[in-house]
Amino acid sequence: MNATEIRLASRPHGVPTLENFEIADVEIPVPGEGQILVRNQVLSVDPYMRGRMSSAKSYAEPYEVGKVMHGGAVGEVLESTVDDFQPGDIVLHGLGWRSHAVVDAKHAVKVDPEAAPITAYLGVLGMTGLTAYAGLLDVAEFKEGDTVFVSGAAGAVGSVVGQLAKLKGAKRVIGSAGTDEKVKWLTDELGFDAAFNYKDAPVAEQLRAAAPEGIDVYFDNVGGEHLEAAIDSINLHGRMAICGMISVYNNTEPAAAPRNLASIIAKRFTMRGMLVGDHFALQPQFVKEVAPLVASGELKYSETIVDGIRNAPQAFLDLLGGANTGKMLVRV
Ligand code: NDP
Repeated sequence: MNATEIRLASRPHGVPTLENFEIADVEIPVPGEGQILVRNQVLSVDPYMRGRMSSAKSYAEPYEVGKVMHGGAVGEVLESTVDDFQPGDIVLHGLGWRSHAVVDAKHAVKVDPEAAPITAYLGVLGMTGLTAYAGLLDVAEFKEGDTVFVSGAAGAVGSVVGQLAKLKGAKRVIGSAGTDEKVKWLTDELGFDAAFNYKDAPVAEQLRAAAPEGIDVYFDNVGGEHLEAAIDSINLHGRMAICGMISVYNNTEPAAAPRNLASIIAKRFTMRGMLVGDHFALQPQFVKEVAPLVASGELKYSETIVDGIRNAPQAFLDLLGGANTGKMLVRV
């Protein structure tokens, strides 16, 4: 009895609670042919997991009630039945939410713990970093001189979006976040030109003040009031990458459409939904470009790391509540 796993105990109705999770102690699993046994060291908790806790069909399969959940993880190979992996290798894979994972070798990727801290492979150099890169450059078609607004700006994706835009010659970068400390971090540490606390006053009002000449690009992590504010401020032929809508993930009824969407006609702006999985071809280019920026400190990142796998459910709830700055992770 020396492995631990987190199972979905029940589907949440509205905001999830600890009762929706079950922590189970189990035997360490044994790898079969073509598999490796990994001792997970760090696990990712991500907003998309909220969707997978529901039964509604979406781009990712719902988690099964009573079964262990999964998500990104990095860990050390303990046993291997394949030549490509040796004990001691550090691998990235998709069987998080557990202390020990038996992973099909074809679904594991070796990472270099010397090149970057292992946590970075789940954040700034991993899925959330790629989301920022692909969303800004490919989906929103960012170009030099653009004024960019990003919501959820102090989170894993948003903090990279804003810095990349600055590094690539944005005229002005504006971010919104939910605490004054996060706002200060954006302007004082990450180099955002302006930032505001969306809880202080109506978003549209604060965005108009921060971007008096309007915005050319909106990177949406939040939806709802933020999206309406962005529509209000977007310039002619502006571009929106719709990456996330965390403000509606706990809704029990469909969210209302942006009330001012009709202005899409006069302003001829574009809104494009995105899924990072469609952009994996950009991964090598992303790593080549962003890894040196991270190593040199030109692109900064923050991680909020919670200790102990038994605290993973609480870490996930805290992520939805905004307790994280940068990437939320769990150290096993
Ligand atoms: P974050 O690190 O940004 O964490 C989530 C943050 O959302 C919290 O820290 C909180 O910050 C903010 N938040 C929570 N509730 C609200 C609310 N009601 N209104 C405004 N902000 C809120 O997570 P990620 O960077 O991992 O993800 C950011 C977004 O990108 C999410 O919507 C996620 O679903 C999406 N995503 C989409 C992908 C895709 O392929 N389309 C891939 C990866 C992520 P605060 O204190 O500022 O409120």
